[in-house]
Amino acid sequence: MSTFLPSPLSQRSIDLENQFGTHNYHPLPVVLDQGLGAKVWDVDGKEYFDFLSAYSAVNQGHSHPKILKALTDQASKLTLTSRAFYNSNLGDFSKFLTEYFQFDRMLPMNSGAEAVETAIKVCRKWAYQKKNIPENQAIIVVCSQNFHGRTTTIVGFSTDPDSTRDFGPFTPGFQIIPYNDLPALEEALKNPYVAGFLFEPIQGEAGVMVPDAGFLEKVRELCTKAGVLMMADEVQTGIARTGQLLATCAGCSCSTRCERKYAAKPDLLILGKALSGGIMPVSAVLASHEILLCIHPGEHGSTFGGNPLACAVATSALNVVEDEELAQKAKERGVYFRQRMEKLMSDFPKLFSLVRGKGLLNAVVIRDEESSKTAWNFCVMMMQNGVLAKPTHGNIIRFAPPLVISEVEMAQACDIIEKTTQEFVQAYPQFQ
Ligand SMILES: *Cc1c(COP(=O)(O)O)cnc(C)c1O
Repeated sequence: MSTFLPSPLSQRSIDLENQFGTHNYHPLPVVLDQGLGAKVWDVDGKEYFDFLSAYSAVNQGHSHPKILKALTDQASKLTLTSRAFYNSNLGDFSKFLTEYFQFDRMLPMNSGAEAVETAIKVCRKWAYQKKNIPENQAIIVVCSQNFHGRTTTIVGFSTDPDSTRDFGPFTPGFQIIPYNDLPALEEALKNPYVAGFLFEPIQGEAGVMVPDAGFLEKVRELCTKAGVLMMADEVQTGIARTGQLLATCAGCSCSTRCERKYAAKPDLLILGKALSGGIMPVSAVLASHEILLCIHPGEHGSTFGGNPLACAVATSALNVVEDEELAQKAKERGVYFRQRMEKLMSDFPKLFSLVRGKGLLNAVVIRDEESSKTAWNFCVMMMQNGVLAKPTHGNIIRFAPPLVISEVEMAQACDIIEKTTQEFVQAYPQFQ
């Protein structure tokens, strides 16, 4: 089987990154140059369906005209003031965001990791001030195979050796329990020094691990009973990705500005990624008066957090989610995608073992050892045929296109995945 060789133009960018960048990623050999909606184009003008959406940051589609207009309008007026002064956007945005998600207050940051760090700090403050946990004793319960970002504190409670090896020593005060394990959570919450439970409603990076039905409701119940904060990291699952506005929302796909109904309303909601439609980093933590008012001037902040440009872009990005009924779209396209993949799986049971997911956050599990390159090789072949997706942990391929993908585009992309599968089993007959 011939190995893929990038074009000279692509190779130039790849070589420059390799020579002058740090090798902290292992990208597919494609060099993107343009994007619109669910599609992207490489430096040679070849077209692809984007089935990663920058890890679910581009839910609203590439270069959405309305979000771009909000960006350029605001950019020509005022971009950054710092929080040393008020700016004319943050107040309106705070009201808009809290009403949109039905919380009392918000705290704006930039990256997802910063929002998770913020949630951790807020939870600890609350624990000492409201729960009277003795100084420096607060514990936050987290889950194995979590992904919450890349800062030193956050990787300190990762169970992925690549994330932790040679990066210690780490911040204490975290207890790891298995994901989707309610008895383990109940046991952990018996410790009176526990202040909060930080988790992903669906574990994205771990390979789209969907918990059992009723898990979120039971987490809510256990956290309430123990008097600890339920902290939902919806950086990847939020903003309509799973076919509802949030993964913690009740089943409705909230396409109009109805009252947000939560199946399990978290005490701390952590948002990032698609909060800005993939245009710039915008993240935020939302919570009650009681929780967020534990933080006083000078105790936490960010130079760029709450900047007027971010406020304008995020407002537009959330309006697009509502106006274009993206939650409903994600739900419908997701049902179709999983149907097509299940058919493919039944035709090629030696290659695929499982398809799982919710809305447009899905994964296909390849039947091979975790250390093999099968998923990678499949993704390279899919790339050559015009669909971009990437393996996540081991032999799992995540499929997460922008939510604006049309019915026709989704059918075309599924055709490409099917065609790739046929070519793949010809090149690797052991999977036939
Ligand atoms: C991507 C992600 C983060 C980190 O966001 P960054 O913007 O990369 O810092 C945190 N939590 C979850 C669940 C994520 O998927």
